[in-house]
Order: sequence, then C-alpha cells, then structure tokens
Amino acid sequence: MLRGMSPHDQANLDLIALLTAHLNVQTPHASPETPEEPGVHAAPALLDVLIVGVGFAGLSAALYTARGLKRGVLVTSGPSRNAPSPHAGGVFAHDRQSPAAILAEARDDLRPYNFPVIEAEVTALTGHGDHFTAVLSDGQEVRARKVILATGVRDVLPETPAGLREQWGRGVHHCPYCYGWELRGGQIAVYLPGLSGLSGVQRVLYHQKITRDVLVCTDGVAALTAEHRAVLSAQGVTLIEEPLVRVDGGAGGGVTLTFASGLAVDRDVLYAHGAGPCVRSWPRRWAVW
Ligand SMILES: Cc1cc2nc3c(=O)[nH]c(=O)nc-3n(C[C@H](O)[C@H](O)[C@H](O)COP(=O)(O)OP(=O)(O)OC[C@H]3O[C@@H](n4cnc5c(N)ncnc54)[C@H](O)[C@@H]3O)c2cc1C
Repeated sequence: MLRGMSPHDQANLDLIALLTAHLNVQTPHASPETPEEPGVHAAPALLDVLIVGVGFAGLSAALYTARGLKRGVLVTSGPSRNAPSPHAGGVFAHDRQSPAAILAEARDDLRPYNFPVIEAEVTALTGHGDHFTAVLSDGQEVRARKVILATGVRDVLPETPAGLREQWGRGVHHCPYCYGWELRGGQIAVYLPGLSGLSGVQRVLYHQKITRDVLVCTDGVAALTAEHRAVLSAQGVTLIEEPLVRVDGGAGGGVTLTFASGLAVDRDVLYAHGAGPCVRSWPRRWAVW
C-alpha cells in the first residue's frame, strides 16, 4: 500500500487494475474499413467466444459478440432445422421468406465486423471455467474462454408412413403457427397415432383454429370414449382409424394420404410430429463442467 493511502483507496485501485487488465486482453476485430471475407480468416489463439451452429440463434449470438468487440468465431456444419421448408412463417421482418435466404442475409450482416465463420463440425468439446477447446472435423482446434452452443435440435422422424420423411417441411408440417394461416378455411389432416383421452381431443381441436375441416389419422383404433367421439363429431372432425401407409406430395403443394384399405384422400397439409422428442445436436464427444 502507498504511504498515506487508506485501505479503501487501495481496494479501489486493486479493482481498477483488475478491470483494466481485463480490458487489455480484448482485441477487437479489424476495423470496419478493412473487412475480410467470412470463412477465410484463421481463428486466433484464445478467443473470447466460440459459437457452435450457424442457425438463427448462432447468427444472432455472433452479431452481439461482434458488436461487443469480443473476438469470436462461428463454427457450423449441416442445415438448420427448418431447411426442408420453402418458407419460414412468423419470422419478424422476414415473414414467408425461405430459411436459406434469411440465414444468408444474417451472415451478410456480419461482414462489416469481419467475424470469422468456419464450415466444419465441432466433434469434441472439452474444458471448464474460462478455457474450452473444440476439435473440428477438419482437424483444427479452436480455444475460447466461453462457448455458446447454438446447435438447435434434430427431428427424429418415423420410418412409416412411407413418404413422410420426404414430405417433411413441404406437405408435412409440425407447427400450425409456422404453416397454417395460408391454409385457413381449407382441408387439413393431423397424424396422431395412439390418440387417446381428453388431451387427445384437445390436440385435435387445437388445429381447428385453422379450419373446421380436420381429418385425424390415428393409425389404429383410438382410445376415445363415446363422449369424446361425440364432441369431435359435433365439431365436424373426421376420424380415420385404419393405418396410414403412404404420404405423397400433391400437385398444389398438399398431400395425398393413402390408407391400408387403399382409400386415398387429398389434403392441403398433414401435421405430424417426430417419432419421439427432438434430440439436441451437441458435439459427439464432450466433457465440460
Ligand atoms: C419443417 C420445419 C419448419 C419450420 N418452420 C418454421 C417457420 O416457418 N417459422 C419459425 O419461426 N420456425 C420454424 N421452424 C422452427 C425453426 O426451424 C427453429 O426454431 C430454428 O431453426 C431454431 O434455430 P436454432 O438456431 O436454434 O437451430 P438451427 O436453425 O437448427 O441451427 C443449428 C445449427 O447448428 C448446426 N450444428 C449442430 N451441431 C453442430 C456441431 N456439433 N458442429 C457444428 N454445427 C452444428 C446445425 O447443423 C445447424 O446448422 C420449423 C421447423 C421445422 C422442423
């Protein structure tokens, strides 16, 4: 402690030294006047932030990281979750644009910041506290103080009915908010194998926000009481309880549903969900704490 300095002053000086030491290690990216092409910039030795996944979340995180004058890198491989869909509905300022176009525009927003993007998979992630190391599929290593896992989720789609996987994001959708307004007043179908009970009835009626004409494919006899069935029938809902065996794309963007008996029905959309919960797409190997 300096002569004449109180413990309180010394504590303040220590705090200032701590804060300025932190600031000294922040090296902002190159100035906006000298932008480099994303993807051709080598990753620096120890970054502030590694962002894994260049989807909607990852790109948003990257923009804030760059604007915060942090040194970071985006590492990504593979498509975003809604890549099969031609339009993304309900995305502020980009309603009904293609997901690829929205993401391309978001990448363009990063250009002035010279924020590097590496096209590779993060296959392993280790570390703790303020030091993490990621191994990439191209053999590179990226080290960073913080990691943002913006890796999204993957839909696990059922093998049957045939054609459902191929129609995913086209004639088959999971979310009436993403794709539903366009079909208001139309003819829709909902694939609900194992439909049962009051909660099942509620799931069916939820889709009637779009249209009254709802066809429900239950893939077997639904566990519904006479009262449940009466409610659905009174609301104009049709149940088909024989197995749905095939989903084909229709001419106008809808689907043709073929059932076990050979019955074929055209609908504007089939709403369906994965075979189970979505799975997180995290690095294959990881040990972080
Ligand atoms: C068919 C369909 C249609 C949809 N339509 C709409 C819509 O109209 N409107 C709407 O708002 N939402 C829609 N959604 C939901 C939307 O897709 C998600 O909300 C959104 O994609 C989530 O963004 P995200 O950044 O979290 O993940 P994602 O967009 O999935 O991005 C994650 C990225 O991380 C990458 N990644 C994963 N693991 C690794 C790794 N180890 N290394 C490197 N990269 C990795 C992935 O490949 C991917 O590119 C739809 C979803 C589906 C399935």
